[in-house]
Amino acid sequence: MTHIDFMRRAIELSRQNMRQGAGGPFGAVIVRNGEGWNKVTSSHDPTAHAEVTAIREACRQVKDFSLKDSIIYTSCEPCPMCLAAIYWARIDRIYYANTRQQAADIQFDDSLIYDEIPKPIDRRLIPTEQILNAEALAVFKEWDEKSDKIRY
Ligand SMILES: [Zn+2]
Repeated sequence: MTHIDFMRRAIELSRQNMRQGAGGPFGAVIVRNGEGWNKVTSSHDPTAHAEVTAIREACRQVKDFSLKDSIIYTSCEPCPMCLAAIYWARIDRIYYANTRQQAADIQFDDSLIYDEIPKPIDRRLIPTEQILNAEALAVFKEWDEKSDKIRY
């Protein structure tokens, strides 16, 4: 199997998914074990993008929270959530087919989120307020001092 074969599979998943009405026209394949497609509408889960679904499936199969030494093939450039998930999963390389702009052209526009991330918290669209920091920070301190933690 080549990069082209894996990307064709991701694109095929995006097509099947769209035609079956499970969600938007997006598919992803993780090479080390996992396939995913967008299930946002069918699973009532706004986080069920193709890449996140593929990461969950791959991690379940390899029984590990790290996908180090894996490659993801996604039918579209990842949105900010999926890009973050790819980093959290420690995937080594990303191949994509459609661009963000091409997704925006069919009403899947994630530019709002890309614009929100670098803004100061008090300038973001969703009102965000810090409360009970000292109480929450006590838990962080306990974690920091915990000797048997599993780092990830
Ligand atoms: Zn996404």
